[in-house]
Amino acid sequence: MSNAPRRAGRHFLQIPGPTPVPDRILRAMDMPVIDHRGPEFKALGLKVLSGIKTIFKTSSPVFIYPSSGTGAWEAALVNTLSPGDTVLMYETGHFATLWKAMASKLGLQPQFIASDWRSGADADAIEARLREDKAHAIKAVCVVHNETSTGATSRIDEVRRALDAARHPALLMVDTISSLASIDYRHDEWGVDVTVGGSQKGLMLPPGLGFNAVSDKALAASKAARSPKSYFAWDDMLSANKEGFFPYTPATNLLYGLAEAIDMLHEEGLARVFARHDRHAEGVRRAVKAWALEIWCREPKYYSSSLTAILMPSSHNADAFRRTALEHFDVSLGTGLSKIAGKVFRIGHLGDINDLTMIATLAGVEMALKLAGVPHQSEGVRAAMDYFTTTAKRPGD
Ligand SMILES: *Cc1c(COP(=O)(O)O)cnc(C)c1O
Repeated sequence: MSNAPRRAGRHFLQIPGPTPVPDRILRAMDMPVIDHRGPEFKALGLKVLSGIKTIFKTSSPVFIYPSSGTGAWEAALVNTLSPGDTVLMYETGHFATLWKAMASKLGLQPQFIASDWRSGADADAIEARLREDKAHAIKAVCVVHNETSTGATSRIDEVRRALDAARHPALLMVDTISSLASIDYRHDEWGVDVTVGGSQKGLMLPPGLGFNAVSDKALAASKAARSPKSYFAWDDMLSANKEGFFPYTPATNLLYGLAEAIDMLHEEGLARVFARHDRHAEGVRRAVKAWALEIWCREPKYYSSSLTAILMPSSHNADAFRRTALEHFDVSLGTGLSKIAGKVFRIGHLGDINDLTMIATLAGVEMALKLAGVPHQSEGVRAAMDYFTTTAKRPGD
């Protein structure tokens, strides 16, 4: 135990994942661990394996790994590709850069479309690269749907159209780790071959589950792929999953939580979940503008509904400001990652969030800006309150 006195009230975990876990999910996971090869587990396994498809909007298999999102990235690459394969990746920010570094370590040849980290993936640039690739050396196009380091959401429907317009046969792989269940996403309709997900962001669960939603084309590619794999091999998963089981011990209690999360998302309605995130994001952006601070994502077209990254005035360090907010108001804000460390902070507004959570978070930010002496205008919280008031809805409306 630390010697620090107890802090009353609840901590505000306003980072873009992990997100606060609702009490209902905590209670659902508070269960004895069961035999993962027994009949009771089979019912749970079948329930989550079919339920999760409704969240990815797919009728194809979704594999569930006891892993972080990074594990699910690796699973996507090693199951579909062979050493030496070229993959086209788009530098939306820190997470896209990490995925690219992983591809290199796995013996793939990533081509990176560079960007300044302040917008989403440009589908026209992807199309141009694919048209140049007459020999079809590119085996996969990999895009991060919601770049969590910058708060930019790419248009996956446009990326799909780019592949189609170039008549290019590459697989399309998408990271939805910080957008699934908070921003509209359609695996089947958008013709995505592998969608990568994680448990600890929009799904409102603790960390520990990674997902791969796969298309028939991706499954076919996996038969020929020669990258070494064992733990992440889809074929072992596929045969065990048919009966609701897993090839090794699954994260049983997280699966109880997953079943509850899926029920909760459908009780609210996915369309309402997405509208709630859009509305909270707009309220946050109005606060940022009222503070006269700058939203890091430059193009409104790519604004993220799950988080907003905010540029600190150059005279101030974003991490020092975040420390002030944590010490005084017990709110955790997201840090700037790698090349934008100290320059931006991020407000997470995804997961189990309501209007008052958002207002309290913004109040914490506004008070901390004042305490830290960061130049800003007041009235950010008021701007968000005005927006939430004029757009107020009763649940179910
Ligand atoms: C959080 C995140 C990751 C990494 O997930 P881990 O669970 O930390 O491995 C990858 N991509 C995106 C877009 C993320 O938001």
